Amino acid sequence: MQATNTTSNRSRGRAALGFLAALLLSAPGARAAVRVVTSTPTFASIVERVGGDHVEVEALMKGRQDVHNVPPKPSFILKMKKADLFVHAGLDGEPWVPQLLKTSRNAAIMPGQPGNLDASQGITLLEVPQRGSLSRSEGDIHVYGNTHYLLDPLNGVIVARHVAEALKRLDPQHASEFDANADRFEEDVRALVARLESELAPYKGRSVIVYHRSWPYFRERFGLGKAGEVEPRPGISPGPQHLSEIVSAMERDDARVIVVEQYHPKQVADSVAERGGGVAVVLSTEVGGIDGADDYLSLFQTDVDDLVSAFREADAGAPANGHGG
Ligand SMILES: [Zn+2]
Repeated sequence: MQATNTTSNRSRGRAALGFLAALLLSAPGARAAVRVVTSTPTFASIVERVGGDHVEVEALMKGRQDVHNVPPKPSFILKMKKADLFVHAGLDGEPWVPQLLKTSRNAAIMPGQPGNLDASQGITLLEVPQRGSLSRSEGDIHVYGNTHYLLDPLNGVIVARHVAEALKRLDPQHASEFDANADRFEEDVRALVARLESELAPYKGRSVIVYHRSWPYFRERFGLGKAGEVEPRPGISPGPQHLSEIVSAMERDDARVIVVEQYHPKQVADSVAERGGGVAVVLSTEVGGIDGADDYLSLFQTDVDDLVSAFREADAGAPANGHGG
């Protein structure tokens, strides 16, 4: 008994010392980890890869949500208040973010501060409206260009480099580790892209129908065309006449696959696919959006696997009339 008590006292003493050491380490200038908050889980996945043990990362929205339409919660503000670095998509893709940022009143993460990373910097945007026609007539979102740039894996590499720069400013002691982690991430992404390109090679040049305009970067990377969109304009639900036009577009362009995001109604896509003689498939726009999309790399692996299965299923069920290359 005596011996046990002594041991227990000793370990309590060690625990207390450990606690003191942790307090000292968390003093300014010797911070244990950079506290990072990201708008989406996809950004969080990239930050985890670059920051490793030197970051604590939390995403605000869940992977199954629509990035354009996230109901703000008080817990988001509490997380932002404590953040050293806030990573977000910039542009107008996350319309729920600017007001939350203001409400958080955390000076460190305000726009223009080193703790605010607008990840759209350095990205070559697609679908940028022509100068002078900047209006919302095409919908309420994407007015500066398409915001779904992370769906080209190589844009994820650009973002990872910016994350490394931001972390180096906040935690210069671990600068070389952040760079090395970003290097490894880039190697992994490039190897994955090569593998996925060969998986999709048999379908290169094929056109798909998309539900929302989420996929131009993905399509460009993997050589896929687009025959139409289930939404008449980004963020606008389709009416019956528009759905009939989509059925016609499927027949006209021999588009046999409808790609529907994890947060849109699959049954709408299914009924259009059935009328057009094709197949609807749910692909995720976010890490955590569907089972298996656990991090940035597996997001693309899962999406490409499911897309290839959909092409196979559609081709097996449709008469072969040539796909126009
Ligand atoms: Zn969008």
